[in-house]
Amino acid sequence: MSRKENILIIEDEEAIRTGLVDVLVYHGYDTDFAADGNTGLEKALTGKHDLILLDIMLPGMDGYAVCEQIRKADREQPIIMLTAKSSDEDIIQGLQLGADDYVAKPFSVAQLILRIQAVLRRSGLSNEPEHMIELGDSGQATHIKIDSRNLSATKGKEEIHFTRREMDILLYLANHTERPVPRDELLNKIWGYAKNLELETRTVDIHVAKLRRKIEQDAANPCHLITVRGAGYRLMVD
Ligand code: CA
Repeated sequence: MSRKENILIIEDEEAIRTGLVDVLVYHGYDTDFAADGNTGLEKALTGKHDLILLDIMLPGMDGYAVCEQIRKADREQPIIMLTAKSSDEDIIQGLQLGADDYVAKPFSVAQLILRIQAVLRRSGLSNEPEHMIELGDSGQATHIKIDSRNLSATKGKEEIHFTRREMDILLYLANHTERPVPRDELLNKIWGYAKNLELETRTVDIHVAKLRRKIEQDAANPCHLITVRGAGYRLMVD
């Protein structure tokens, strides 16, 4: 029998936390939980979890700080933020600090389970062969050399680090440089969203914006990761 996947729930509201535990156990997952940010961070850093569900408003350390600390220690750890509904600021900040995805409260159980399955399915596919991507002319300030195995890149003397999700986007675009890649294709291939999931294209846009801040000289005028209006994103390789 295959190992059960383990999900850490960091959520202070007891009704939601116990509800999540029940639902996840019912769907065949092992669970662990924490009711405050500090305990949650400690469990996240000392345990091995296939996925972390992370609330934002927490006593002690909030979810943003927890997310940031987890990312500092582990750029591969899948994290889904639980955000208050229709709070764009929450969503954007969470994704910028390294969350892979978010689910807005109040969420339906079906929607949450689909999202969890998508993230877990994707994170199991991450052992890609080593891949170097070079963008721009060597010797130019815009030149960047990306090492997929180390989730890193060099831009001049600067070393850049990526999350697993960011690297997956770069690799996917690098394998499809002949055309722009639509956002729903990225959601499907990188996030594992099935076509029947509500497509959260903003998640893609925020990840692309983060990538541009890392790889472009001027993120507002990208030359490597460009937008093709009405068509999607395209990685320009020479
Ligand atoms: Ca809360």
